[in-house]
Amino acid sequence: MKLKALEMTLQRLAGFSRPRAALEQYQTPAPLAARLLYHALMKGDIEGKRICDLGCGTGVLAIGAWLLGAGSVAGIEIDKDALLVARTNAELLEADVEFIQADVRDPGTIAKAGACDTVIMNPPFGAQKAHADRPFIDLALRLAPVTYGIFNAGSTPFVKTYTEGRGEIAERVGGSFPIKRTFAFHTKDVQEIEVEILRLTRIP
Ligand code: SAH
Repeated sequence: MKLKALEMTLQRLAGFSRPRAALEQYQTPAPLAARLLYHALMKGDIEGKRICDLGCGTGVLAIGAWLLGAGSVAGIEIDKDALLVARTNAELLEADVEFIQADVRDPGTIAKAGACDTVIMNPPFGAQKAHADRPFIDLALRLAPVTYGIFNAGSTPFVKTYTEGRGEIAERVGGSFPIKRTFAFHTKDVQEIEVEILRLTRIP
């Protein structure tokens, strides 16, 4: 599937039915999701691989990975309402994704996800709850040798320090994330958030 076709296909997926601010539930817009996935595909990190999507929400990244030929895909998500949407989205595109309700902070989640080749994630940026992204980074580094994550622009120094001795930032791709007015504290109809996609590799 070509990049543009992937983008258009992901555009068809439903969003969060009742987004929860505390969990920072923002669906990755199709163009950004497609860019992350295509980049990972070109690096050889998707096709035939076991992919884990941490905080999969409505399943955009997980389903996209399956569409690009992943060997198997697991989507981990704490919120069962989000998983209902994710399952419907997967059915719509006939994607074979295993959705697992689990908290990334729970030590038992490692066994539930199983070892992965590649982690993909758009974790909470920590805007509502400081450091909410840390358990995602921790779990990603334990599950897979390679991780693609979407972070707030300017997160590179933090991620670098936080993962020291455990992982390395192998690559950084810029992007932006248009957030539509979702929560009461949003003041604009659309707010453009600058983000960066980081490719993290685990230090063995
Ligand atoms: N990955 C999706 C959703 C991004 S929003 C996408 O790209 O569209 C972040 C997601 O992380 C939300 O769905 C939220 O419910 C989930 N989340 C937040 N804290 C979590 C936790 N501790 N464990 C698992 N999932 C969590």
